[in-house]
Amino acid sequence: MAPALQASLLVWWELHGRCGLDQKPWMVTAAGRWPESGEALDPYGVFVAEVMLQQTQLAVVLPYWRRWMEAFPDLGALAAADEQTVLLLWQGLGYYSRARRLLQAARQLLSGPSEDRKPAAPDLGGFGLWPPTLAGWQALPGLGRSTAASILSSAFDQPEAILDGNVKRVLARLIAAPAPPARQLAGFWRLSETLLDRRRPRSFNQAVMDLGATVCMPRNPRCEVCPWQGWCAAYAAGDPARHPVKEAPRSVPFQVIGVGVVLDGTGRVLIDQRLEEGLLGGLWEFPGGKQEEGEAITATIERELAEELAIAVEVGEELIVIEHAYSHKRLRFVVHLCRWLAGEPQPLASQQVRWVEPAALDAYPFPAANARIIAALRLRLAELAAPEGAGRAQSGGSRSAA
Ligand code: SF4
Repeated sequence: MAPALQASLLVWWELHGRCGLDQKPWMVTAAGRWPESGEALDPYGVFVAEVMLQQTQLAVVLPYWRRWMEAFPDLGALAAADEQTVLLLWQGLGYYSRARRLLQAARQLLSGPSEDRKPAAPDLGGFGLWPPTLAGWQALPGLGRSTAASILSSAFDQPEAILDGNVKRVLARLIAAPAPPARQLAGFWRLSETLLDRRRPRSFNQAVMDLGATVCMPRNPRCEVCPWQGWCAAYAAGDPARHPVKEAPRSVPFQVIGVGVVLDGTGRVLIDQRLEEGLLGGLWEFPGGKQEEGEAITATIERELAEELAIAVEVGEELIVIEHAYSHKRLRFVVHLCRWLAGEPQPLASQQVRWVEPAALDAYPFPAANARIIAALRLRLAELAAPEGAGRAQSGGSRSAA
């Protein structure tokens, strides 16, 4: 059955796949064309794209990838960059640990020959600096088996099976898997390896990813145009969107976070840099923390700023309220303007703290919710600076639910 599935998928892909030069610019040779079978591509652009695509759709990734390649056109430029510049370029793409790991990987690759890269692999078309094996790529920070396999098949046309979210969904429907893919990963890997076209692995992997992204979509699969319809068990069963079967939903915790936008007597605002670990590690933010049960939000802000920065503040008007949902929790940020009263700010729960002119905040990488706080702050400061009565019409609009 695998040869028939491979053939029909590749015919479909050549007609309808995302193989335009502007759709995946990292898949283009120096001569500006899609690579021939077995021809090597410079892995750097592929590597950056694959890491960006780990949690993000292609259309969102494209402008980020282009800006990144302009700023860091090769591994050396990336390895020499400072983390703040890297995080600023990543701002808005989310899952910031990916950016930090790309930087670490670039430095690791340039820090000296590893056993896996010695001697330079001649079969990599002159790109012998890069790991030639799955294990070599997986030794880099943040790279799992599927991303490593995708890089090797994309850049070097190596016969490595992939299993990203799109591919899991397609395979789960193809066999109408009765349990969530996460519960039978070994079986899904075996299926992906069985289906892989080893004569054209690069094209096959691109094709199955494109099928998942453009035809076998999460909510409304377009089975009527699918090259695998004739073999698809979920289609035959009449309800393909039921697959992949999901785990029973967990209740998602909800937290209220009090945030202080602290201004000193000269109009500077206080920001701190998060510790390196965690989802948003290394980014800057306005200080604050979790509201305790029964606590007024103004008391939360006073307490958190005393505990985390050793400062005393007067909590003033509410600036903005922002709702933000992650996959594992929902947060409500209640943000107040504050006046600094006493205490030299100390980074007791952060890497560093800094007083910054509001106009200079753009030079710091912030998580998405904080970008909205900055916009609200600038609007409020402009209103406060305006002559009496001017701009008041907008001041009531600062309360927000994202
Ligand atoms: S027939 Fe439908 S459910 Fe099956 S693989 Fe194709 S798009 Fe997905």
